[in-house]
Amino acid sequence: MDKSIYDTIIIGSGISGMAAGIMLAKEGEKALVLEQHSIAGGMTQTYSRKGKIFPTGVHRLGSLKPGQPLWYYFTYLDIMDKLDLVKLSDDCFERVYFPTNNYKIPTGHDNFQNKLIKNFPDQEKSIATYFSDLKHVISNIGMYDPGIIPKKDLSLRHTGPLEEYLKSIDISGRLKSLLTANSPLYGISSKECPLLIHFIVSDSYLNSSFRINELNTPFSDTLADSFKAKGGKIYVNSHVKKLIIKNKTVIGVILDNNERLFSKKIIFSGHPSLILDICPSELFRPAFRNRLNQANTPGLFGVALKWTKNNCPLEKNDTYIYDSWDVNYQYGRDNILQDDPLGMVYLSALPDKDKSNKNFAVTALTGISSRETCLLKKYYKESKNNKYKAAKNKITQKILNHIKQVYPDIFENIEVADTYSPITFQRYTLTKNGSAYGIQKTAQRFLEGMFHPATKIRNLFLTGQSIGFNGIHGSIVSSVNLCQLLFGKEYLTNKIVGRQN
Ligand SMILES: Cc1cc2nc3c(=O)[nH]c(=O)nc-3n(C[C@H](O)[C@H](O)[C@H](O)COP(=O)(O)OP(=O)(O)OC[C@H]3O[C@@H](n4cnc5c(N)ncnc54)[C@H](O)[C@@H]3O)c2cc1C
Repeated sequence: MDKSIYDTIIIGSGISGMAAGIMLAKEGEKALVLEQHSIAGGMTQTYSRKGKIFPTGVHRLGSLKPGQPLWYYFTYLDIMDKLDLVKLSDDCFERVYFPTNNYKIPTGHDNFQNKLIKNFPDQEKSIATYFSDLKHVISNIGMYDPGIIPKKDLSLRHTGPLEEYLKSIDISGRLKSLLTANSPLYGISSKECPLLIHFIVSDSYLNSSFRINELNTPFSDTLADSFKAKGGKIYVNSHVKKLIIKNKTVIGVILDNNERLFSKKIIFSGHPSLILDICPSELFRPAFRNRLNQANTPGLFGVALKWTKNNCPLEKNDTYIYDSWDVNYQYGRDNILQDDPLGMVYLSALPDKDKSNKNFAVTALTGISSRETCLLKKYYKESKNNKYKAAKNKITQKILNHIKQVYPDIFENIEVADTYSPITFQRYTLTKNGSAYGIQKTAQRFLEGMFHPATKIRNLFLTGQSIGFNGIHGSIVSSVNLCQLLFGKEYLTNKIVGRQN
């Protein structure tokens, strides 16, 4: 039994748990990360199939050039110079295919704006308004870009629906489809997506887009190495089944094997609804409990493809393939286990160790609604090997046929290495319904989807993608917000932007 008393125990070793751990260890705290799975990393993990390494929840990162938002955070976490980053093409970091047209999205706001004006000359004024609004919003929100300190954080003024905003500046039709084609990166339709989230994600990737060469520098190992180098400890196979709470104050945790570990404070970084399983729910108000259990973003179904021929076209850009101009269709469709078309497939590739090789590990993703996830869950429970497998095979074939619309010789070039569904994510990370981006933050109920890092239980804090914004960047910011609460906002921000060491 570990008799130490830690300054902080962090539950969960995903990006938010590790970012919090590194920041606490940098401040001299004795920190321990507990992970229920046998491998640390949460959604930063990779896995190997048929000789290829595939990512789970990190395909692309934005804003990693010096002075850009995520660069500050990666530098502060001491991982920036440890990662082998592959820059996506400046001419086309994203390619969007619609039935009759396809568009190459270039890096740089001005480049993209000019390209849009060339394609949609009659909407030049609306396009200019969109980019000037994007710039205005981004420069007035706190901590997305730690290099910008707005006089007043105006984020809450920009949480209305993206759809209404686009309508208000006369953007519609195909231009609207193109501007909202990146919605799978936040998993919400333009009718419900808060403008703020769309602007943050779009800005991040327009600044610059990279992949991590996971073969040379696995992201999860790089985070763990940085944490351990500062004295942090990570225990895997350590599921926390209960928090030890006395007088509404948390003092430790109990693991599945009944081992008790004690600490001055605890940070929970898993899906927030799981907190109700590990401490008496009556300690939280019913309204708060309802918020913890509210709707999640959809999950993602993935097919890991080994691109066997040395001709993979996805080396320097990610690709969305839409089978209609209706980008929102994928959020409203009935059931892809029946005859419904998929709507969208997203493709992203990981390079080989040998950079001259164009024989890549490609991930194909499509959204899975909560209704479809429920069906898959039912099949999984009924018969792990038959009905569930048959359903996965059906979706896999649909995905391959969908890709065939753009790459007609796909079947000659690839081998299916693996498939996974939200059930797989739920098994590995315990995330509710395997949701890709956690609790939904809709324009209609924005504040209910945002959580303060401090809880009603003294010394128990929350972090993770559901607490703040989703994605690697959003999850890190949720841990920064938490550490600002512990160490002071100005103090930590100054350290992050290098004004003080
Ligand atoms: C398929 C997919 C692709 C994605 N692609 C990208 C991308 O390209 N770029 C990007 O920025 N974002 C991407 N994302 C989103 C990104 O991966 C997530 O937003 C982010 O990783 C969430 O991190 P987290 O720390 O909040 O959660 P997690 O990574 O889920 O970490 C939480 C951890 O807590 C552990 N845990 C929970 N309960 C307990 C307990 N009781 N005891 C012990 N441990 C516990 C879990 O096992 C898990 O390891 C993607 C997501 C998915 C699903």
